[in-house]
Formats: sequence, C-alpha cells, structure tokens
Amino acid sequence: MKKKQRKRLLAVLAAAAVLMTALFLALLLHRRHEETAEEERVYATVNVELESAGGIPVYHRYIPVDSPRRPGEIRAIKYVTIHETDNRGAGATAEAHNVWITGDVMDITSWHYTVDDHSIYHNLPDNEVAWNAGDNRERDGGNINGIGVEMCVNLGGDYEQVLVNTAALTAELLYVYDLTPDDVRMHADFMDKVCPHRLITEGRVDDFKDMIRKDYEQIVRERTEEEGQNDGKEG
Ligand SMILES: [Zn+2]
Repeated sequence: MKKKQRKRLLAVLAAAAVLMTALFLALLLHRRHEETAEEERVYATVNVELESAGGIPVYHRYIPVDSPRRPGEIRAIKYVTIHETDNRGAGATAEAHNVWITGDVMDITSWHYTVDDHSIYHNLPDNEVAWNAGDNRERDGGNINGIGVEMCVNLGGDYEQVLVNTAALTAELLYVYDLTPDDVRMHADFMDKVCPHRLITEGRVDDFKDMIRKDYEQIVRERTEEEGQNDGKEG
C-alpha cells in the first residue's frame, strides 16, 4: 500500500470511529432521557372542590388561614391517607370535627376531610400541607404529600356506610388528581401507629382497598364513556 493510500485509509477509519462514538453517545442520551421521562410523574398542585362523592354531599369549610393548623404550604399531591378519628362519642360526627378543627384551638394537628355516614367535611384545600401522618417533613411523606381523610367511628353511626362513603371520596380524589388506587395509604404506612384502628384490627384493610379500586374503576369507565359520547356529539 502506498503511503498516500494508507493515509487516506487511516483518515476514513478515524472519521468512522468518531461517527460511531457520536452515534453511540446519542443513543445513550436518548435512552437515559426516556428512562427519566418514565420516572418523573407529574403530580397535581391544585385544589378541587368536589360537590359530592358517591351521592354524599361535600361541605367546604376551611380552617382559617391564620390558624397554626394551616401552614399554607402548597405541595404536590401524591397520596390519599386513611385515618380513623378514634372518637367514639355519639356526637363525634364529621360536622362536629369540622367545627372543632376550624375553631380556636392551639394545636397543630390537621387533616383534609372528615367522613361520617351521611356527610363529608373538607377542612383544608387538598394542595396544602397538613400535619396528620406523624412523619414530620419527610420527603415524599404523608404530611408533605398526602391528603388526610379521617373516618368517623362515632357511637350510633353506621361504620359500614362510613367505609362506603370514604371509598367513594377516595376514588374521586384519585381520579381528579391523576393518582391510582396504588397511591392509597393507611396512616400506619407512615408511622408506628394502629390507624385506622378498627379497620386494621378487624383485618379489613385489603377489602377496603378493593372497595376503593372498584369505585375508581367505575368512575374511569363512566367518565371515559361520557367523553366518548361528547366526542360523538361534537363530531
Ligand atoms: Zn391516623
């Protein structure tokens, strides 16, 4: 091979090597981009005021903005966290809890919804931090990223209906905030406390999660059908 030919061949090989490296790097970057796109979920940071859930009215009576119970921090909504009030008094309804939590009490405990057998009270916008999960300011934790829902266990109340109402509310919240039934948590998932107490001690957590999943799937089905019908009308 002549010297000139060899030089040309080397130049071509070098160019090919550079090209291959560039191509490889581009592919690597593309894949990494795809991977992060999968990991990065977009979470809602807005507050939606539902009129009702499962036919049960939702009353929006918020804790005053200057209350220590309402830090007012806007956050991403990642979970719905289920609790029980553990208050067995006959008068410990959702309304009574709302009157108490919106009142002048020097305590920082707060949560977003209280549910009894006939009503749902909304105490705090869903996109605001509330102190209910007992995990302080833990990243991706219950306080910082969960919607706290308290179920009433008041004497004379129909606990089975409370479960039905809470499942309906939770399913609605999952739907409006682009979450899934996998994003439901029990308070006990965030700290060492048996809450929701009755649900856990009766071994009914999985059954309750199934109720939520069924309600959620029905909502998805119904709303998808509605959208389909609207599209048909527009077309
Ligand atoms: Zn709890």
